[in-house]
Amino acid sequence: MKNYSVLHILELYHIYRDMDKQEKKNFYQHKCDYYQFFVRIIIIIASLASLSYLVSDYQLNGHALMPTLIPRTSILIPLVFYIFLEAGAKDYKRKVFLNYLMLNLIVMATIWSVYHLEIKTHFSEGATIMNFLFLICCLGSSPRSGILGYGVFFAEILLSHQFNHYENLNVILSLNIPCFAAIMLAHCLLDLGELDHYLTSRKLEQALITDPLTTVYNRHKMYRLIQDNQLIANELPVSLIMLDIDYFKKINDTHGHYVGDEALHYLGKTLMREIAESGTVIRFGGEEFVIILPGCQPAEACKRAELLREKIALSDKTPVNFTISAGVAEYNGNFKESIKAADHALYHAKESGRNQVFWNREFQTKMIG
Ligand code: GH3
Ligand code: MG
Ligand code: MG
Repeated sequence: MKNYSVLHILELYHIYRDMDKQEKKNFYQHKCDYYQFFVRIIIIIASLASLSYLVSDYQLNGHALMPTLIPRTSILIPLVFYIFLEAGAKDYKRKVFLNYLMLNLIVMATIWSVYHLEIKTHFSEGATIMNFLFLICCLGSSPRSGILGYGVFFAEILLSHQFNHYENLNVILSLNIPCFAAIMLAHCLLDLGELDHYLTSRKLEQALITDPLTTVYNRHKMYRLIQDNQLIANELPVSLIMLDIDYFKKINDTHGHYVGDEALHYLGKTLMREIAESGTVIRFGGEEFVIILPGCQPAEACKRAELLREKIALSDKTPVNFTISAGVAEYNGNFKESIKAADHALYHAKESGRNQVFWNREFQTKMIG
């Protein structure tokens, strides 16, 4: 459990300020996805609960005709639209827009009802209660949306004064302006707390799919790629490279496991530097790596594997001299089969003396370079 201090909040504010547009978008999408279920339920309940004000309308007007019946029940029409439109919306901006729109439509239905009431001073209570909904809506939105939502709310109060002529407009404003300030402050603080959780969960998520020794992805990432069908969704063709350090056992036996680890770290870093922008590097096993190259023909993948092989073999920065062998295969829609084909090519590279790249072309192995 984290103890928040002013210093920590300031630190979070600096992180927030330095985030670029896309990062902020991702953060608000995450926040909205997390809270929207709750916000949606509260908005639906609040819309339905606003019908119960028919009772207080009756108490105020004192006659059974209830002129506020249509204004109060009018909220049911936008509520039906809200339920359908909100369920179909994916983007957080659309959801937030619908939340604040619905909130302000409740205000409008209230203003319409107040128009039919003889005593209009009680609008101050009704308007103040709306702050509760603003507080709920801020859970899924950005402070900017909160300010816009409040802007519309105050505009509605001032415009409706033109025909409702509130005797206590000053009271309505003096009750709601401090609520606005307090809720916006709470909104900003909640955002920073939420940002803290978001950053922690992203770090955990990254740690879950990253191999700490080599800094490349681990098998969790590979399973996700397969599960989410991301390889198919990617541009075709997709090439796979299976890569393995030659005589690694000997390196461990001769120089010790620590040097072996350093060699693995060096290889991981090199692969990330050379591949990260155009593909995914996965530590498949001990000293075996799989490289997934979307939109890359296998012939091109062979060239890239050959360049990697050369770079490692000729490098004078490795903790100990070592070489790699690689097998290349085109992804055929079945990950297991394709990996097997790349592994088959790797086996031939090893059999042919190591420090080589082979391409498995429909089960025919061809030597490259
Ligand atoms: P080949 O050229 O046929 O690939 O021979 P090899 O010795 O590289 O192959 P082998 O699969 O027999 O050996 C792999 C070795 O990698 C065995 C294991 O001790 C070592 N290894 C696996 N993971 C790690 C690790 O994280 N750190 C270190 N230092 N060694 C590891
Ligand atoms: Mg090996
Ligand atoms: Mg091996």
